[in-house]
Order: sequence, then structure tokens, then C-alpha cells
Amino acid sequence: MALLGALLLVAAVVLFILLPVARGQHASLTREDDEMTEAEARRRVTLLALRDVEYDYHTGKLDEADYMALRKELSAEALAALRAFEGEEGATDVDIEAEIAAVKAGLAAGTTCGACGHRNPDGSRFCAACGQALAAREATPSS
Ligand SMILES: [Zn+2]
Repeated sequence: MALLGALLLVAAVVLFILLPVARGQHASLTREDDEMTEAEARRRVTLLALRDVEYDYHTGKLDEADYMALRKELSAEALAALRAFEGEEGATDVDIEAEIAAVKAGLAAGTTCGACGHRNPDGSRFCAACGQALAAREATPSS
């Protein structure tokens, strides 16, 4: 009798799970609004890499020559990605230098998270995105 009860329970659960499918309901597998195109993904990855390079330079992990070389390389890549992105999305006039400047300003102010890159509001002591303690500029080791 216990077995029958269990079977009924399983049947009920399976029915409950399959009901929306049987009714033809389904979650959309494609995100329409903020679907990330390949160019957009490339742009984000490149900008993240640029941010890391800026961060490493600011914290003295990279010397100037390496920094300039990496930055030049990544900027070119980001620009190429941006162009592809613009081609897909239409006119989005994003200035790569402005993006870099924003990252720099955030790092200088100690509000850009070194762990995840989230830009926190001025005066933040912890990253709103990942909880990492934000190092103020004075606290970062100077070479
Ligand atoms: Zn963070």
C-alpha cells in the first residue's frame, strides 16, 4: 500500500511538472531585450581585460612599457569589437577612451571594485556587487 502511495505521489509530481509543457507554456529561451550578441560579449571581455590592465598598472603590478603595450593592443581589440557591435546594433557612439577614463577615475577614487570591476558610488567602502572591501587609493601599495 505504501508503494502505491509513493507511485501516486510520483505521478502527481510528474503531472505537476509536465502540466505547463502539456499546456504549451514555456519559458523563452532567448532573451529579447538584453540578448548579448557575440560582438557585445567580445566588447565586454575586452573592456574587462582593459580594466584589469589599468588596475594592475595602478597597483604597480605592471610596469609602464608593458602597460602601454597591453593597453594599445586591447584598445585596438575593443575598438574592433565596438565597430562590430555598432554594425549589429546601429548607431551606438561609445568612446573607448571615455570608457577607459571612467575606469581610471573609478580606480583613482577607489570606488571601482578590483575584484569584479563594478563601479560603486562615491564614498563606498564595499563593493555593491560582490562585497569586496574597496581599497581607497591611499591604501593601494605604491611602488
Ligand atoms: Zn566587486
